[in-house]
Amino acid sequence: MLIKENLKHIKKQLPEEVTLVAVSKTKPVQIILEAYDAGQRIFGENKIQEMVDKYDDLPKDIKWHMIGHLQRNKVKYMAHFVELIHGVDSFKTLMEINKQAQKHQRVINCLLQVRIAKEDTKFGLSFAEIENILTSNELKDLKHIRVIGLMGMASFTNDLDQIKAEFKSLNTFFRELKTLHPSLNTLSTGMSGDFEIAIECGSTMVRVGSAIFGSR
Ligand SMILES: *Cc1c(COP(=O)(O)O)cnc(C)c1O
Repeated sequence: MLIKENLKHIKKQLPEEVTLVAVSKTKPVQIILEAYDAGQRIFGENKIQEMVDKYDDLPKDIKWHMIGHLQRNKVKYMAHFVELIHGVDSFKTLMEINKQAQKHQRVINCLLQVRIAKEDTKFGLSFAEIENILTSNELKDLKHIRVIGLMGMASFTNDLDQIKAEFKSLNTFFRELKTLHPSLNTLSTGMSGDFEIAIECGSTMVRVGSAIFGSR
């Protein structure tokens, strides 16, 4: 019941064109089914094995998004069903996704993860690296993937101005890229703590976990 209420509350705050990914990592299938029964069909997980197990156990009209850091050697386990991969941060990973998608005669949608957060420089690509990937001839040869946008996470901070500045700069970059690459249509930014700011700054897809399912 609570989950249904939470979903309703969040949906009310989302413009129609913003897609809600319900982040269900660590939550059991019964809990996910509550959200499913409330009409939610897009779920996000951050571990491939966990997502595969849930895919096997849950209704097949669920669209599964991989939002976590990718281990290349595990891409093959989700290639037959994953709907969108948010956290792609190298060309090598795109090649592996393409290879595995080809085996299933699929085209897998991907987002390139941008490194925006100042203190977390571990994952993600710089703006320049993203431009290089999008303009490379090698990308055109990958017929079984489609890069449809960018994913970013703001710094882990309470400074709302900083978060806003980061989302804004990402949105500016996204809109510049779109003029050169019109097929880009997705900007995945915003989580439970900052999705309102992200939407203000042009997000088209928010990844919300704890505000729907409670704390983990
Ligand atoms: C866990 C996670 C989320 C959701 O976080 P909440 O704060 O629970 O909404 C969003 N994006 C990524 C990449 C995550 O790992």
